[in-house]
Amino acid sequence: MRKKIYIAYTGGTIGMRPSESGYAPGDNLMGVLSQRLSPDVLANLPAFDLHEYSQLIDSSNIRPQNWLQIASDIAQRYQQFDGFVVLHGTDTMAYSCAMLSFMLRNLHKPVIFTGSQIPLCEARTDALDNLIGALTLAGDERIKEVCLYFNGRLLRGNRARKLHASQFDAFDTPNYPWLGRVDIDIELNEPQLWQPRGAEQFQLHCDQHSHVGIVPLFPGITAQWMASVLSQPVNAFILQTYGSGNGPDSDQKLLDTLARASDQGKLIVNLTQCTRGSVRQGSYAAGSALARAGIIGGLDTTPEAMFCKLHHLYSMGLETDAVRDMLGVSLAGESSV
Ligand code: ASP
Repeated sequence: MRKKIYIAYTGGTIGMRPSESGYAPGDNLMGVLSQRLSPDVLANLPAFDLHEYSQLIDSSNIRPQNWLQIASDIAQRYQQFDGFVVLHGTDTMAYSCAMLSFMLRNLHKPVIFTGSQIPLCEARTDALDNLIGALTLAGDERIKEVCLYFNGRLLRGNRARKLHASQFDAFDTPNYPWLGRVDIDIELNEPQLWQPRGAEQFQLHCDQHSHVGIVPLFPGITAQWMASVLSQPVNAFILQTYGSGNGPDSDQKLLDTLARASDQGKLIVNLTQCTRGSVRQGSYAAGSALARAGIIGGLDTTPEAMFCKLHHLYSMGLETDAVRDMLGVSLAGESSV
């Protein structure tokens, strides 16, 4: 039977048009698509309903309310469709994929995010390949998770990062194998696909206020600087450290500032500034000092996925101790535990 796919068009370059100030979100994507694809070609694709959001955004404007809108949209139509495609800007696509993977827990159908680096209305667009590839994959029953499809690669959504601002090859999963490739043949890396652990349990909670901040270490960072960041009214911070999770252990004031915040109930999670690899706080004295200050290692989770995981868990009303316990658990394949 011909599969039926729901496409949510949220904005992003894929549907943008030139404006005086550069590319800006554009409507009537279906109109542009019908100009590019003949009715014969369209008839050979999985059947789809394209729903255009009333407020199309450049994804740099993403906010938790947008995540709630996309997740609720899919949850409401879950029974009617075989798979879902989300057309989204590339800038924050990795965040949205991660957030949806936590909100739509134990999916049994594919949810495939895609977009493009050049709009569909332009001659050299990469939008058609990405959209057609995503539509095809959204009809594949073996996929039961939120994925990102771009430039021939199928990637786990909550492992993906935007690593190139201008190449078509914009996304990768630095700490996880690709889930598939679309070339002449479509090949899925089946052993790496996520297998849901039970029935769907959608958790459509997504607070509109901030729970999480991100602080990078830099050479010369002071205790005073750190104290001012940690005074922000959020529950948790991602501390972006060096290498395998190291920080300046010769700066006792800085360590005391971190320890104080942690004692006062702020959850501080250590992620590396490196693109690849995992945090191991015990490898060096400079990492152990952070562990002694109460900082928790965040494994090989991407900053985007950790940000969304923390935001999601606090949105569900969990207390810091419970959230801390969940850091060692891979909820949707986001970390290697
Ligand atoms: N600024 C655009 C966005 O994220 C970039 C893109 O879609 O490629 O919406």
